[in-house]
Amino acid sequence: MSDERDALASQRVARVMRVRERIEHACARAGRQPAEVRLIAVTKYISKEETAKLYELGLREMGENRWQVLREKISADLPVSWHFIGPLQTNKVKEVVRSVSYVHSLDRKKLADALSAEVQKAGVRIRALIQVNVTGEPQKSGVTPDQIDGLLEYVLEQDGIDVAGFMTIGVQGATEYDARATFSRLREIRDRAEARFHVKLPELSMGMSADFEWAIEEGATMVRVGRELTGDGKNLHDSI
Ligand SMILES: *Cc1c(COP(=O)(O)O)cnc(C)c1O
Repeated sequence: MSDERDALASQRVARVMRVRERIEHACARAGRQPAEVRLIAVTKYISKEETAKLYELGLREMGENRWQVLREKISADLPVSWHFIGPLQTNKVKEVVRSVSYVHSLDRKKLADALSAEVQKAGVRIRALIQVNVTGEPQKSGVTPDQIDGLLEYVLEQDGIDVAGFMTIGVQGATEYDARATFSRLREIRDRAEARFHVKLPELSMGMSADFEWAIEEGATMVRVGRELTGDGKNLHDSI
């Protein structure tokens, strides 16, 4: 049994090192510094105990897409920054704003209203990214590019919300060309929004296991990596 535990531990170390190395290489290709790119370890495939092991390996920013699961992991009291990266229902906002550093999925005025109301009650502020459905896929969350200005103008007026930038999810199975086009489009959206609203929107949350290197080359400041760091949890030897 302990052989198996050792094997899993070394697999875990190797995965984390490999992802960090790939981030560094992508930064080098793009002429960027690795410190400009934050690795958000998406922990949705792994348990609370395994999440703690990632903390021991130096990961300090973690992402979850479901409040029920995040709440359980927060109870482990790891001193990490949590990023809420999934669809957010307004009835979860009260708890979420007390627990996370960033919400990556701000996609409607009603959610902005709820966030603003709850942060004021809690006496905190929340950093939020506007989620954009760059390619307009029908099943995907996020505002379409033509809805951005309306939402951004609204959110900028809400007390307690610091809009930090934008988030997108790349198209699954996209070619390098298409993936990079999506990410560079988000960067252009950001540049245009900064100019139009005279605000700084530095964060671009884009890139997952399948496409994080391309996202970095297109300007990502946060990559949300799950499977490549943790395995997908489907079989023991493939997970950490
Ligand atoms: C699951 C998830 C990720 C991580 O996906 P991987 O492909 O496992 O790296 C990133 N962002 C969001 C919004 C997710 O739901």
